[in-house]
Amino acid sequence: MKIAVLGSTGSIGNSLLNIINKNPKKINIILLTANKNHKKLFKYAKKFNVKNLIITNPQSYKILKSKTKNLKINVFNNYECLNKIFKSKVDYVMSSIVGLSGLEPTLKIIKFTKKIAIANKESIICGWNLIKKELIKYNTEFIPVDSEHFSIWYGLKNSEKNKLECIYLTASGGSIQKTPIEKINKLKIKDLLSHPNWSMGQKITIDSATMMNKLFEIIEARNIFNIEYKNIIVVIHPSSYIHAILKYNDGMIKIIAHDTTMEIPIFNSIFGDKNKKFNSKKINYKIMNNLNFKKVDKKKYPAIKLLKNLPTKFSLFDTIIVSANDFLVEMFLNKIISFNDIYKKIKYVINLEELQKFRNLKPKNVNEIINLNRYVHFKLREKCV
Ligand code: NDP
Ligand code: MG
Repeated sequence: MKIAVLGSTGSIGNSLLNIINKNPKKINIILLTANKNHKKLFKYAKKFNVKNLIITNPQSYKILKSKTKNLKINVFNNYECLNKIFKSKVDYVMSSIVGLSGLEPTLKIIKFTKKIAIANKESIICGWNLIKKELIKYNTEFIPVDSEHFSIWYGLKNSEKNKLECIYLTASGGSIQKTPIEKINKLKIKDLLSHPNWSMGQKITIDSATMMNKLFEIIEARNIFNIEYKNIIVVIHPSSYIHAILKYNDGMIKIIAHDTTMEIPIFNSIFGDKNKKFNSKKINYKIMNNLNFKKVDKKKYPAIKLLKNLPTKFSLFDTIIVSANDFLVEMFLNKIISFNDIYKKIKYVINLEELQKFRNLKPKNVNEIINLNRYVHFKLREKCV
């Protein structure tokens, strides 16, 4: 089996390589990519005997290039080189770059793989029509990896989609799950980065605390499964054991659960069709007896209200919210703005008069998304710095 991993040095990339490490037989990694982390990328290249690496940050590229000078490893600094790397289609690609930067690489690699698993929700939100076009054109299978969407995908297999009434997406409440509203702004960055259930990259951990992550997952679910917003319901479930609930119009309900490790959806995206065993724990009765479902407190998580401001159909307006959030989370992690500012400034951007025209426009190509992303960052830079 030949595979490639975009964003291999991140949390999803690590989980995937961990699975490969436990199932090393006949898996040949053709390409690994990263942005800055040349040390980890080099370590993985040696460990898994990988001959092609892409690293985009110019300084990291220089260092990695000199480190690999006498080794038979090709190092590239952009995604224009894919046709030099892939002579024929590989079996599997994982798209796990964080943020909107994942969109172009994802679009470019679809033609070189039989199957693509996409964790990078920002590309699914902003460029779903473009991704779908490539999937159809190159006959590439797609599997969503976000745990909720993988669960929905799994639950919908072999079931009549037209009987589906609504979907429930669970949200843990993130690192502020137990924090009273008035104390949230006193939390330190390190507190906000410690998620009670999942170990994930920094950006998605902050997105879980603001609940932007769940807003994104509603948009992601609408795009992938073609379900209207009014039929996607978010429910707080602090232990993250249940990932999705499917309610059918014949009265039946499917509740889909798995241990809180991303290795399960990732493992299934690679080996799901091969009847391979994943060593999972026994069902946890303690958690099952205490599912503790609750409505989302909109005062604590105001970002969830933003859904009302978004067009119900896929449009370039979805890019605005993703771009704004990408930029603002980075600003927050760099201590330029406060945690509560993330929501306030997203609200400011989506109300800008000049951006309203994007509600009725769909992206015709990736450049339209990239240009809009740049413009949103420009407007926010004016407002933040
Ligand atoms: P991380 O921040 O841990 O990793 C991000 C990866 O992307 C790293 O390999 C990083 O390289 C690379 N990267 C960052 N910026 C760029 C860039 N500009 N160009 C190219 N590569 C870049 O993120 P996660 O693994 O947590 O998340 C990845 C995606 O999966 C996100 O979209 C997230 O929302 C989604 N997801 C993650 C889950 C999780 O459990 N972590 C669960 C569900 C979805 P470097 O290390 O060199 O910076
Ligand atoms: Mg998720």
